[in-house]
Amino acid sequence: MKVHNFNAGPSVLPKEVIRKSVQSIIDFNNSGLSLLEISHRSIDFLEIIEKTTYLVKRVMNLNDDYSILFLQGGATLQFSMVPYNLMKKVAAYLDTGFWANNAIKEAKKFGKVKILFSGKEKKYTYISKNYEVPYNVDYFHCTSNNTIIGTQMKIFPKTSVPIVCDMSSDIFSRNLDFKQFGLIYASAQKNISTAGMTIVIVKKNILGKMKRKIPSYMNYKIHIKNGSILNTPNVFSIYTSMLTLEWIEKKGGISVLEKKNEYKAKLLYNEIDKNNCFENKIHQDDRSNMNVSFFLKDMNLKNEFNKMWKKENIIGLDGHRFLGGYRASIYNALPLKSVKFLIEVMKEFERKFSS
Ligand SMILES: *Cc1c(COP(=O)(O)O)cnc(C)c1O
Repeated sequence: MKVHNFNAGPSVLPKEVIRKSVQSIIDFNNSGLSLLEISHRSIDFLEIIEKTTYLVKRVMNLNDDYSILFLQGGATLQFSMVPYNLMKKVAAYLDTGFWANNAIKEAKKFGKVKILFSGKEKKYTYISKNYEVPYNVDYFHCTSNNTIIGTQMKIFPKTSVPIVCDMSSDIFSRNLDFKQFGLIYASAQKNISTAGMTIVIVKKNILGKMKRKIPSYMNYKIHIKNGSILNTPNVFSIYTSMLTLEWIEKKGGISVLEKKNEYKAKLLYNEIDKNNCFENKIHQDDRSNMNVSFFLKDMNLKNEFNKMWKKENIIGLDGHRFLGGYRASIYNALPLKSVKFLIEVMKEFERKFSS
């Protein structure tokens, strides 16, 4: 059955990646064993980690100043792992929405948090560019893409302190100068792989400045020393990430995907802006190219619209439970034709119900 998967996460993956990952479960590299049956310390698996590490660095154009880790605990564990390792006294955060807020809550357990900007009063519909990162904070934390409300940071501040960025929902979707970041983390289930694995990209020289004792699993340096196999990692999710990275390279790399993502987003926002039945509430400059949120202008039409898209095998269009409305997540692997299909459905809805 043909479905159009707009899920926010776990979400759409390239068909080819799914096929190959399934094959690895049945018979990994013609070994007669499943990927799920081999040791995480076997040569076969070490090669997978090595290749995935290499590919992350290559698509992001990073050198050996950076370490790549494959951890568990989701982006959520990073909310506390970051301050555990990096916060001596005070860190600066941007409050751009739900996930940023969760990061702030955890950081406050470790020291003082300076909020440089909060979008709360404007319901997180825009992201300020007018703030300055103090020179004397331990790090600056931001969320590059706000998955729930649908905003995205287009520029990052110039600062001498390490920039820590939660890129869970837009990693590998656009080309940035990744060397401007001290630490990037992203849970895999949005744009990379399956749930249960988080990629952490950390510049080695920002670590080791902390006096507090850090539990082993929470300690980046220990993971670096152990090559992400301090304990048994999520073998399957790491393997699937490798496949996605290979797919990204085959497509021409993240700059090519970025163009496609911009185009998909532009088509959809254009339709929302032009369609009499819908509206998007995000400040033009801050609209996300990954998560497109929109609302019905007339809430009385809710049942009609829901019936219509569900009948067309469109999946995952409901907005986040905290926000309501609709959200189309249009990650790397979501085909342009799914976006065009959704637009057709919205047009049809307008023809039928526009007053
Ligand atoms: C989904 C998401 C998270 C939470 O990820 P978990 O893997 O569930 O911990 C954090 N930050 C952002 C931006 C997200 O989109």
